[in-house]
Amino acid sequence: MDNSRYKDMPGNFIHDIIEADLESGKHKEIITRFPPEPNGYLHIGHAKSICLNFGTALKYGGKCNLRYDDTNPVKEDIEYVNSIEDDVRWLGFEWAEHRWASDYFDIMYDAAIELIKKGKAYVCNLSPEEIKNTRGTLKEAGKESPYRNRSILENLELFQKMRDGEFKDGEAVLRAKIDMSSPNMNMRDPVIYRVLHETHHNTKDKWVIYPMYDFAHPIEDAIEGITHSICTLEFEDHRPFYDWTLEEVGFWKNPPRQIEFARLNITNMIMSKRYLRAMVEDGTVSGWDDPRMPTIAGIRRRGYTPEAIRQFCDEIGVAKANSTVDIAQLESCIRSDLQNKCETRHIVTNPIKLIITNWEEGRIENIEVENNRNVPELGTREIPFGRELWIDGDDFMEVPVKKYFRLFPGNEVRLKGAYFVKCNEVIKNEDGSIKEIHGTYDPDTKGGECKTRKVKGTIHFVEASTAIKIDIREYSHMMIEKEDGTQEFNPDSLKETWGYAEPLVADIKPEERIQFFRKGYYIADSKLTTGDKKVFNSIVNLKTSWKK
Ligand code: ATP
Ligand code: MG
Repeated sequence: MDNSRYKDMPGNFIHDIIEADLESGKHKEIITRFPPEPNGYLHIGHAKSICLNFGTALKYGGKCNLRYDDTNPVKEDIEYVNSIEDDVRWLGFEWAEHRWASDYFDIMYDAAIELIKKGKAYVCNLSPEEIKNTRGTLKEAGKESPYRNRSILENLELFQKMRDGEFKDGEAVLRAKIDMSSPNMNMRDPVIYRVLHETHHNTKDKWVIYPMYDFAHPIEDAIEGITHSICTLEFEDHRPFYDWTLEEVGFWKNPPRQIEFARLNITNMIMSKRYLRAMVEDGTVSGWDDPRMPTIAGIRRRGYTPEAIRQFCDEIGVAKANSTVDIAQLESCIRSDLQNKCETRHIVTNPIKLIITNWEEGRIENIEVENNRNVPELGTREIPFGRELWIDGDDFMEVPVKKYFRLFPGNEVRLKGAYFVKCNEVIKNEDGSIKEIHGTYDPDTKGGECKTRKVKGTIHFVEASTAIKIDIREYSHMMIEKEDGTQEFNPDSLKETWGYAEPLVADIKPEERIQFFRKGYYIADSKLTTGDKKVFNSIVNLKTSWKK
């Protein structure tokens, strides 16, 4: 991808901090990181974080690492690791270093020993329940643990025992010794190591104690020389402990700085990994890559482009306060990206047979039509025209409503690129449904041009003898916004239908994007399109309700 665009990436308050740090000489090179926990698929909220971290590094000619935050052996699954790498690359970024937090367990252990030696950490044998109950509240100070004043020597011995597996899960923890009456709950002697007899995907059975996230994260950042550790707003209250850890451990001369920004929320989308996992597990959606899902795997299968996602992330900017972005803004980015890239093809749904009674049987004429009205360089193609055509169900009304300019008995329309055609007769089946409609064409209107009269409607068609059948999946928003501000799953988010397409549609390969004339943008589904079977996912419609 063209990374130079990041040189002129719009600035934000994080970039102001970075520029001040470069100017003062605090840092010479900017190093950021994207630190996913491998416990689910990445979603578009993560894309925001990826674009911000990688984009910032590119903007300042620095580096961005991909680091798996794999300090919790229970929740992680290696299946997710591959998907995360695919997703970052798909977005167009390449990491400088590929790291695992678990590679740093030895250093984290040393850091814990260091704290104990300084009298800044102690082994506590209160149960998890008791620790919770003695933490106090926002209004009330917590209660000091009876184990808080153990000697350094005793703590060193007990911590060694924790490491040696002499305690069961929950029987002992290591806590930072800070202040049980701090107004910040995170500073009330937080647990920094716990006993967990679990096999870790990377370190296997080497450890039976594992560091807590809040202790591990600043150390991971410091080891990698991260200069600016960008995270979401809910970590703001954790920042004092982040700074405390680095200061007290004292291993690093120029420690990283944590900066928080607002999480991305989008209407009609849900971004909680837990919720998404539940929908995958109970079969509400077909998988993590269901095209309705906000996961990167999902939006990619849906046909969204990485360029559009990056554009969207740049456009919404970086905020200090949480807010929700209208999904129409995202869709508008997709539409702007596709409108100059995709070629157009004709398809019809709910097809109705139109017979041109004054056209010779068996005669096929090739009509030249443009591939993309906005981009002449995309050229033209030929589509067949003949006696039997399919038109779209929406383009015919036996009894027209007001201002209906498409086909109805007695009315004349332009068949796109071909001729003027007038509807003369509607032939019915026994049950009263329409069997076919009969019309006549005017040979003097070739190319859809006529000097002597005008028609108000232009519709398109697919020649019947050469038409191919395609399957179509029309997707709409996965979540419905309810009045009380909550969201619920939209049971109508997938409609399966089918249609007839012009013959060139047979050449479309999986993952190829196309505009279906007068309908919208579509992609040949990567999994369901096989051999002669064509399955298209709707990406986005042609018109926007979004206004800048
Ligand atoms: P969970 O805590 O449920 O595991 P998470 O969304 O925090 O989910 P992480 O894997 O920890 O998942 O996230 C990796 C990075 O992506 C973090 O730095 C996190 O702050 C950022 N991130 C996650 N969700 C969003 C979001 N909606 N908007 C912006 N950044 C996000
Ligand atoms: Mg997280």
